[in-house]
Formats: sequence, structure tokens, C-alpha cells
Amino acid sequence: MQNDPLSHGLWETTAPAAPPTSSLTGQAKADVAVVGCGYTGLSAALRLAEAGAKVVALEAVEIGFGGAGRNVGYVNAGMWVMPSEIPKALGADYGERALTLLGGGPAVVWETIDKYAIDCDPVRNGTLHCAVGRSGLADNGERARQWGERGAPVRALSAAETAKRVGSEVYAGSLLDMRAGTIQPLAYARGLARAAIAAGAAVHTQSCVRAAERTGRSWTLRTDAGSVVADWVAVATEAYGGAPWPQGRREQILLPYFNFATRPLGADLQASILPGREGCWDTRKIMSYFRFDRDGRLVFGSVGALRGTGLAIHRAWAKRALEKIFPQIGAVEFEHQWYGMIGMTDNALPRFHRLAENVVTFCGYNGRGIGTGAVFGRVLADHILGRIAEKDLPLPVTEPDAPTLPTLKEAYYEAGAQIAHALGGWV
Ligand SMILES: Cc1cc2nc3c(=O)[nH]c(=O)nc-3n(C[C@H](O)[C@H](O)[C@H](O)COP(=O)(O)OP(=O)(O)OC[C@H]3O[C@@H](n4cnc5c(N)ncnc54)[C@H](O)[C@@H]3O)c2cc1C
Repeated sequence: MQNDPLSHGLWETTAPAAPPTSSLTGQAKADVAVVGCGYTGLSAALRLAEAGAKVVALEAVEIGFGGAGRNVGYVNAGMWVMPSEIPKALGADYGERALTLLGGGPAVVWETIDKYAIDCDPVRNGTLHCAVGRSGLADNGERARQWGERGAPVRALSAAETAKRVGSEVYAGSLLDMRAGTIQPLAYARGLARAAIAAGAAVHTQSCVRAAERTGRSWTLRTDAGSVVADWVAVATEAYGGAPWPQGRREQILLPYFNFATRPLGADLQASILPGREGCWDTRKIMSYFRFDRDGRLVFGSVGALRGTGLAIHRAWAKRALEKIFPQIGAVEFEHQWYGMIGMTDNALPRFHRLAENVVTFCGYNGRGIGTGAVFGRVLADHILGRIAEKDLPLPVTEPDAPTLPTLKEAYYEAGAQIAHALGGWV
């Protein structure tokens, strides 16, 4: 995207074209202005337009330019934290609501893909959280127990079952979550935009919101060539936001993650590795993950930014690590490489903020944005439409946090990932 092969990599080369859009010019009026066209903004725009609201969605660059076009495509249920931690952090009512909503995130994504016939290679065969060592096994066992108590189709697999499903013997076991699966993430974002436009939303790309003013009971949002006057504003910029409402971005520590994609593997290798096509990641602190795309390329990633010295270090490590996990591949060659930023909050949970009167946002998805964006986009729309009262939201209204020394922490994580990968990791 934007002539940068390191931004959206494989997904840009294999996604169907985005629906035609233009930048905003002149003055527009709307009931709701949506800022940002990733999963959250587009899900909100679609829901609002279908309810008969006049919606104008503004995207600074292109549809899926943020995390939505760069991620791995795991449609996950819930958050990173243990289910039992969520009510502890949010209180019983919010916690229960958030758990139910986020646990059901994949179902909403699958339903949306079906309803709007979105061409995004959905694979609904579950994900495998692969255990490394005893602590990984214990963590998975506890997650299986907690989700099991809630009736979710989640179970712990033995090392032998895991080896059979993954095609590698390096893991001590895994957690199979049948609610989850994989998609082509940019294709899904583009499909959501197509559905929102068909429902009547105006979607403008190359339309960065530069300023916002309260004029009477409305907001006026200004882009370089136009403006929108709207009663409500849904800010859906997550980790890729900035002015005029930078608070959501600022309360997150940005952690870079990279992806490499091999050439399409031969039929024998495709049969021996992930024959069930689950999406996998491991339980290490510096996590790595792998999945197939629809053409049999193995996508492999971990923490780190592909810039400066990071490009060569992470590339060399990814090659060594893949060869170690899947020795049957032999010498690994990569066709695509790209990276993006995940926004982390201090308790790894998302936030809901009222940034100003009639300006609302969800942010802090902590690397779990596909299911989360789908359900939170709907909730934003329903709240604006008056269908969900503030007290019934899945998260409490909070003030944005101000993390201490964010720039230093971000530099530390980026450099730390390089050091860890230069020193070895899997190899
Ligand atoms: C490498 C990587 C791997 C990941 N893997 C996964 C995964 O496997 N599964 C998963 O669920 N999540 C994953 N995530 C996280 C997921 O991609 C994000 O949480 C998700 O994209 C958030 O969706 P969103 O719509 O809220 O925000 P985004 O998709 O980030 O969209 C925000 C949009 O707002 C736009 N914008 C910003 N400022 C303005 C402005 N002033 N005016 C107009 N537009 C503006 C941006 O250009 C951007 O397009 C991953 C992220 C990365 C980077």
C-alpha cells in the first residue's frame, strides 16, 4: 500500500480490489461521522447505515491501512488475559458482558462474512495455542478449564495430538479453540467497506481528519479538501490514531509484529504441515505464530519491526526458526515480508472512552482486533442509535490512561526483540 511492500505485504497482493472510493471534497452532513476505516469503523458504519442513519466514514489513507490490513488473520475469541481475570479487572457486570461479547466475536465475523458474501478465504477450523514447556502446558490447561466451564468448545490437546495437527514435534501440547479460525484480513476489511457502501454509508479514503470543532449541537470534522457536519462521531483509529483525538493511541504502548510468507509449499509439505489449516501461535513471552494462506504459503511471524537492523535480524531468525520447527521444509525462502503495530494497554484489556460530548471510541485491542472490532463496531453503532445505554456497555466509561515513558518502552521492546532474535530464540 502506498508503494510500501513492507506495510501490507502478502495480503495486498492477494486481496480482491477495494471498492472504488474518493476523497472527501466540499461540505457533507451526516448523523454520524466515523473516523477510521478498519474493522471497528467499517462495522459501525455498516450497522448504522443499515439502521437508516446517514453515515460518512473518513479514512486517512486506504481501507484497511491500519492494523486491519497488516495482521495475521486470526479470528480469535476473547482476550490474551485469562477469562477469570476479566471480571476481576472490570467488575462482575462489565466483565461478564465483555467476556460473552468477545467470546462470541468470531461468530459475528463468520456471520458477517456469510451474510455479505465477503471473499476473504475464511477457514473455520479453529486455532491452536501451542504450548512451549511446562508453563505453557499449565497455562493452556487452565484456559481450557475456564472456557470449558463457560461451555466454549475449547480443549487441551496432548503433545502427540498437537504434533499430528501441526506437523512438528516441538510443542508440549496445545489449546484447540473451535470458535476461532483464519481469514485474509485485508480482504475482509475491503469486503466490510463494500457492504457498508451498499447499505448506504459514504466511505471516503485519502481523507484524514485534521481538526474537529463543536458548532452548536454538531461536530464539524475537517479534512484537507472538505468537511463533515455530524451529530455524533465514532473514533475508530485504535493503534493508528492521532490528532484530533490522539488519546486512544497515546494510552497504548505500540509493539511491532512482523510477518514473513514463504513461497507456496509443495503438495507433500502442505499435507504434512497443518493439514487442518488451523491458525497457530505459541505460549512464549516473545511469541511466534504460523498459518497457511489460501495458496499454501506459510506465514510466520513474531515480535519486531522490519526496519533498520531489524529487517536482516528478524529475517535470518525467522528462517532459522521455521527450519527448526518444520525441518521437512528444508531451506526456507520468503516471498513477502511486512510489519505493523499492535497497541498494548497496561492490563491488556480494551477501553471505552467518551472523548467529548457525542464523541465515542473503543481502543486498546492488544492484538485481538478482528472479532473485537466486529463486536465493538456494532456496540458503538447501537450506543449512538440509543439501543445500548451507557450503563449496559461491555466496558465502563474511563478516562484515557497516560503511560509513563511510552517512547522509551516502545524503543526498548523494538530493540529487545532484535536482541532476542539475534541471540537465538528457537535456534
Ligand atoms: C502484525 C499484526 C498482527 C496482528 N494479528 C492479529 C490477529 O491475528 N488477529 C486479530 O484479531 N488481531 C490482530 N492484530 C490486531 C488488529 O489488526 C487490530 O486490533 C485491528 O486492526 C484494529 O481494528 P480497528 O478497525 O479498530 O483499527 P485499524 O485497523 O488500525 O484502523 C484504524 C484506521 O484509522 C485510520 N485513521 C487514523 N487516524 C485517522 C484520521 N485522523 N482520520 C481518518 N482516518 C484515520 C488509519 O489509517 C486506519 O486505517 C494484529 C495487528 C498487527 C499489526
